[in-house]
Amino acid sequence: LTGFAADLGGTKIAAARLEAGVVVERVQAPTDGAAGPEAQVAAIGALLARLGHTRGAPLGVAVAGRIDGAGAWHAVNTGTLPAILGYPLERELTRTLGRARCLNDAAAAGYGEALLGAGRDSDSFAYLTVSTGIGGGLVIGKRLIASGNGLAGHVGFVSNPHASGPCGSGRVATVESVAAGRAIAAAAAEAGHGGDARAVFEAAAEGADWAERIVARSAGAVATLIGDLAATLGLDTVALGGSIGLAPGYLVRVERALAGEPPLFRPRLVAAALGHDGPLVGALAMATGQPG
Ligand code: ADP
Repeated sequence: LTGFAADLGGTKIAAARLEAGVVVERVQAPTDGAAGPEAQVAAIGALLARLGHTRGAPLGVAVAGRIDGAGAWHAVNTGTLPAILGYPLERELTRTLGRARCLNDAAAAGYGEALLGAGRDSDSFAYLTVSTGIGGGLVIGKRLIASGNGLAGHVGFVSNPHASGPCGSGRVATVESVAAGRAIAAAAAEAGHGGDARAVFEAAAEGADWAERIVARSAGAVATLIGDLAATLGLDTVALGGSIGLAPGYLVRVERALAGEPPLFRPRLVAAALGHDGPLVGALAMATGQPG
């Protein structure tokens, strides 16, 4: 697994050179969230040039949003990259940089974790990233579940009994709308407290009841999602990633909420192992067709 990869998220773009499945060199730049797709392609190209990428070298690119079966890129959550409205990303990257393979960032991270990280020993695996939003990568028998419209695995948009409000996907009462970073910050503001999700976690750690309630509700909603996915896919292992998924005390809270489910609906719960390299590893694995 040797070559190049990029990961374009709502806040930053990372690019890396990998050797034998390991990131050996990495550069990054902030994402211009309002910019159009041509500017995003140029930003990816500029980062790869700094790494010495040459035309045609193996290249995998992970992005926020969905990539359809024709390699076109679409925003799903209107709060993230709103200017991406069906752009032929794979074709344009291939034209400018040589052959490239693109996929959703959480799907890429899930594939990377399944091959080389927390899902190595799993036959039925889900990766969930709890970050600004909630994303997923579902890998059954070491094959990433993908669909022609690129929506497969966007598990943040599953309905959830803990939720009631609107979601950036256009749906209502989704797990993302109650459990993700944006929702946690909104709930804090509603309770009369400013600050982002990190501040809410800090307040919970200091024993503030209002913050504990918000964090526990997020963890409870994610536990319900895990039970639902276990019922759908027969999962044996779930890995949590993202800054919230990996925040101190979060996995334990999800585990506690999951303890209320019958054993069959309680897959093994672990922390993601590849950290922010997951999307890069998975995207390159998809591009080369070489698992590991
Ligand atoms: P992205 O959403 O761009 O993929 P992250 O995975 O870092 O990025 O998620 C960002 C979210 O995580 C924000 O809502 C932020 O407030 C929250 N966050 C960042 N660090 C922490 C932390 N240590 N504890 C809890 N939440 C955090």
